[in-house]
Amino acid sequence: MPDRDDSDDLLVRAARTAAAYRAGLAERPVAAARPPDAVRAAFAGPLPAGPTPPADVVDALVAAADGGLVATAGPRFFGFVVGGALPAATAADVLAAGWDQCAFNEVLSPAAAAAEEAAGRWLVELLGLPAGASVGFVTGGQAANTAGLAAGRHAVLARAGHDVERDGLAGGPRVRVVAGAERHATIDRSLRLLGMGTACVEEVAAGPDGGIDVADLGRVLDRGTGPLLVCLQAGNVNTGACDDLAAAVPLAREHGAWVHVDGAFGLWAAAAPARAHLVAGAALADSWACDGHKWLNLPYDSGFAICADPAVQAAALSYTAAYLVGAGGDRPAPSDLVTESSRRARGFAAWAGLRELGRAGVADLVERCCVLAARFAAGLAEGGAEIGNPVVLNQVLARFTDDARTDAVVAAVQREGTCWLGGTTWRGRRWIRVSVSGATTTEADVDRSVAAVLRAAAAHR
Ligand SMILES: *Cc1c(COP(=O)(O)O)cnc(C)c1O
Repeated sequence: MPDRDDSDDLLVRAARTAAAYRAGLAERPVAAARPPDAVRAAFAGPLPAGPTPPADVVDALVAAADGGLVATAGPRFFGFVVGGALPAATAADVLAAGWDQCAFNEVLSPAAAAAEEAAGRWLVELLGLPAGASVGFVTGGQAANTAGLAAGRHAVLARAGHDVERDGLAGGPRVRVVAGAERHATIDRSLRLLGMGTACVEEVAAGPDGGIDVADLGRVLDRGTGPLLVCLQAGNVNTGACDDLAAAVPLAREHGAWVHVDGAFGLWAAAAPARAHLVAGAALADSWACDGHKWLNLPYDSGFAICADPAVQAAALSYTAAYLVGAGGDRPAPSDLVTESSRRARGFAAWAGLRELGRAGVADLVERCCVLAARFAAGLAEGGAEIGNPVVLNQVLARFTDDARTDAVVAAVQREGTCWLGGTTWRGRRWIRVSVSGATTTEADVDRSVAAVLRAAAAHR
């Protein structure tokens, strides 16, 4: 067994290695240095027959991983909707690993439970959601969508006299699911997991910017009756457009719907005064999915499953008999609000990140990314790119001439390493998708990246 000093030394060394990596992020090529096959070979090999000293294991991990790390935490990663990780939140996550707390409930870890409760209240306030809403600390937007839709499934079937937790879907009334044509793919996976399948989705057309067409929503809603879930979206992954929630939520409510808002990144508009109008009306919904590891710049894995009525969220998700019979008091435990059972203490990082930024810091982060996205779009347009969307949030679609040239530019930029951005298909055409979500991204990072894209475009005519 290692003695105590060895263990201390090992954790300090691991933290130092991570810190040195983070210190080098701004100048490191953004893409991984080695191809996936080489990285796979570095990790591969037979299962060791016996033990290895911990320090050697960590050295081996660092050596194997190095060429396969992507600087997603750095200032010039613009792919997917990926943010970095704030310093205090990262350090808190290191502590969470070291403390090895289980966030199941306050018996297992009073600190983990209290951090989630406090951070949950701050989140609800920042996002402008109803005070008293419950917040489950889940792995990400996917799990938050599953939790929100599970709560909705419970509520609409309970109103119809059917106990879906006990009896499942069989024998109950059919649940209608109405969702936008440009919803995130995770909504469909959540529906699969919840037994409703994807064929049940009644699609609502999207407007020109990628937000829902509210007139079409009205038409789709009028087509049927019965238990109804409506999934709306704050933040289209291509265009950043937010559904007109102020119009859509009340309309869905008039039809008796449970309204879930997938706001994985877009809901953060609520925290920036100049952008909050984009998600006006969000608070009228019943459940919300939001990410911590995207725009809030918390470490992975961090998502928030939020529900206006804590009892409904717990009824759908809890398996704790004590809570279900009311013996656990009137507050659901952390584990009653999530899709997981044992969990790492994610609340420490969320609490630390929110405390590090404060209200003004979160507002600045959101606003700054939006302004930088507009700068990115303007720079590309000046260099001859077509811009595909009004840049209202942190997302930009750009293309050069045709699909082939656009894809060639994406590949060349990724290889060159100044920045990283991905390609996407939107409305039948290929686009470069730029997402500005990092807390450390500056104007200079955007300008350098625009120049790299324009160089690649000039080389691929
Ligand atoms: C990223 C995203 C999700 C999924 O979130 P994960 O954190 O990756 O699970 C869901 N919806 C939208 C709109 C997203 O952008």
